[in-house]
Amino acid sequence: MFLHESTVYGPLKSRRLGSSLGINLLPNKRKVCNFECIYCECGWTNVSVKDSLPSLAEFARQLENKLKELNDQEVSLNYITFAGNGEPTLHPEFSAIVDKTIELRDRHAPDTRIAVLSNATTLQKTSVLRALKKVDDPVMKMDAGSEELFQAIDLPDPGLTLDRLTSDLMQFDGNLTIQTMFLRGTYKGRSVDNTTDSEIAEWQSRLLRIRPRKVMMYTIDRQTPADGLQKINKSELETIARRVRASGLIAETFD
Ligand code: SF4
Repeated sequence: MFLHESTVYGPLKSRRLGSSLGINLLPNKRKVCNFECIYCECGWTNVSVKDSLPSLAEFARQLENKLKELNDQEVSLNYITFAGNGEPTLHPEFSAIVDKTIELRDRHAPDTRIAVLSNATTLQKTSVLRALKKVDDPVMKMDAGSEELFQAIDLPDPGLTLDRLTSDLMQFDGNLTIQTMFLRGTYKGRSVDNTTDSEIAEWQSRLLRIRPRKVMMYTIDRQTPADGLQKINKSELETIARRVRASGLIAETFD
């Protein structure tokens, strides 16, 4: 499985964001998340590994050093992206870290955008929602249309529901990107497929309530922790994207 081994990593060539400097606010050798997505490229959570979260001061030191180094090398960046080994908004200092990132970006890389990839489960925390509204691109996960499939694909912590996430996502007033992983296969003997007509219809009706400025649709790219999952081909993704575009939203596909 694919775990990042530092707080600041890259820059990497991202299929969705271009040249992207990654930020991992989680431990270096362990996933920390309140989901356990069956496709997660970080693998299943390993609770036996003990490792701590980076402090705000340590994060700021690493980011500033890296931005200065890239400036010296005349390397330009499209994005500074919060992703890493789990859910970035679970870091207790997430809001202060976003403020510091904006400050350092403005000082050292003013043309670079800031993105946060999040599973949208912490939006009820005012400081998190406020911080996410400050970044250029809050990219929020929504992997299913039905509650049943959301629970089957994302394996969220108890109490997290797709209905709650959908109403929380409406608080962005459309200033967000939704990202959806499309896949099909079986997990623990049951079928999972978020590309069926009825799933797409329910997912679309949630999109129409959230009205994101963009929908990013992608599929499996790396090894998945669950066996038996399949990639969706580009033409199928495009067929779904056409349905989204027909409803007046912008959709991009990545395979
Ligand atoms: S939300 Fe992201 S980090 Fe968490 S399990 Fe899902 S894919 Fe992995």
